[in-house]
Amino acid sequence: MGGLDEQGRSARYVAGGTDLAVQLAGNAAGGQPEALVDVSGIPELLRLERAPGGALSIGAAVRLETLARSADLPACLSQGARAIGSPQIRALGTLGGNLCNASPCGDTLAPVIALGGRLVLASVEGRREVPAEEFFTGPKATVLRPGELLVEVDFGPAALAGRSAFRMIGQREGQAISQVNVAVWLLAEGGRMAEVRAAAGSVAPTPVRLAAAEKLLRGQAWSQGLGREAGQAAAEEVRPIDDVRAPAAYRRLLTAALLREALAEACEGVQ
Ligand SMILES: Cc1cc2nc3c(=O)[nH]c(=O)nc-3n(C[C@H](O)[C@H](O)[C@H](O)COP(=O)(O)OP(=O)(O)OC[C@H]3O[C@@H](n4cnc5c(N)ncnc54)[C@H](O)[C@@H]3O)c2cc1C
Repeated sequence: MGGLDEQGRSARYVAGGTDLAVQLAGNAAGGQPEALVDVSGIPELLRLERAPGGALSIGAAVRLETLARSADLPACLSQGARAIGSPQIRALGTLGGNLCNASPCGDTLAPVIALGGRLVLASVEGRREVPAEEFFTGPKATVLRPGELLVEVDFGPAALAGRSAFRMIGQREGQAISQVNVAVWLLAEGGRMAEVRAAAGSVAPTPVRLAAAEKLLRGQAWSQGLGREAGQAAAEEVRPIDDVRAPAAYRRLLTAALLREALAEACEGVQ
């Protein structure tokens, strides 16, 4: 993620600094950079725009607090942002920082994947777009090239036209890192889930699509029984590990339960 500034010094981007400051203090940022490049005031990164056709663009430096408070964004994204840290952390932390930090438990990662987000990256070599689910390559690792900047995350009109929900569980109620988080997005037609995307975090080295669960759900009408089946499929397809936050077996149970709950919320009132 690092790069060189124009004098050839090693440099890192910083937005809210809520991840980077902790890593620099603990010497866990892949070496101490000689320069920090503050991207938090770049106007293009602060845009939050809805196009007339319903497409949505969110600049990388948009604060988590803004996402958490917005009533007119996809529900799972606002709920994911709301789950992060404390009001102080959300006031500083940004969407781009959460995504580029690429922690498998980051709370906006599964929502952005479930919503079909596309990440717009820029460098001196030009711009490119990467689907959110291809952005993450491992714990704290992404496809970002040295010096490349995340400019914004774009969503097609379906993201806002659909219904979505996010669920997470941590070790306590407030300011807790997700033991598992799940986001679902769906388009309902004639009482059925015509399209559905689900993603989970903290269950593999990167956030993952729950493809087996999606396959079961697509074209079906919601029922608690279907939710249990999809949850079971999701629990079997994730690859969690045992760590200080939770054992793998518990994470599988959580994946099933959180997917069921998120689906129930997203399907509420579908006829
Ligand atoms: C007490 C505490 C509690 C927390 N709780 C949670 C939680 O519950 N859930 C959760 O998901 N996270 C949590 N976090 C982590 C953190 O707050 C979030 O990940 C936040 O969104 C990071 O955003 P930032 O702007 O502060 O990132 P920064 O720290 O500024 O940057 C993070 C990384 O992204 C890079 N970067 C930033 N912006 C860009 C860009 N535009 N282009 C390219 N690279 C970029 C930086 O170089 C750095 O490597 C917590 C952190 C703390 C300190």
